Amino acid sequence: MVPDNRLKECIDEVLLLSLFKSFCELNSAKEAQQKLRNIFSRSSDAITTTSNIIKNQLSEELTEEESENLYPMIKAFLNRSPYRKSIPDSVKKDLLKKQNNKCAICGAKIDIHSHADHAVPFKYVGDEFENNYQMLCTNCNLKKNASIDYQIRFLLKTI
Ligand SMILES: [Zn+2]
Repeated sequence: MVPDNRLKECIDEVLLLSLFKSFCELNSAKEAQQKLRNIFSRSSDAITTTSNIIKNQLSEELTEEESENLYPMIKAFLNRSPYRKSIPDSVKKDLLKKQNNKCAICGAKIDIHSHADHAVPFKYVGDEFENNYQMLCTNCNLKKNASIDYQIRFLLKTI
């Protein structure tokens, strides 16, 4: 049995990721991203601005909590660099410890030579989104590739 709070967490995350994916697709043009960067730089309240943008673009009314959770992703999307940072072994070691040396998706045994993956794919958030790494086995890493949908399906499978 999955505890209720874990269930809610998963559903919230799935909703957030699918909303974020729609947002990124809608704003895939460089001009659209520049326009958004301008809006945020003029705004004194990034959370309210996030909620207004989502309301205008996707006709979704976000709660304050949802806007607070979405804003760091949007910020990463708008500030991301195309260059990958290398992930230090110390970060990989911490992740392995947290994951009990198991792949975050399938649970296969992994080690320090396994892949550090961006849970929200690099193409959407670059390396600018905090706490976004997870360790995966080679197989899951190849299957997941840069897909947000894969992460969503994985989350749904855990509930
Ligand atoms: Zn795996």
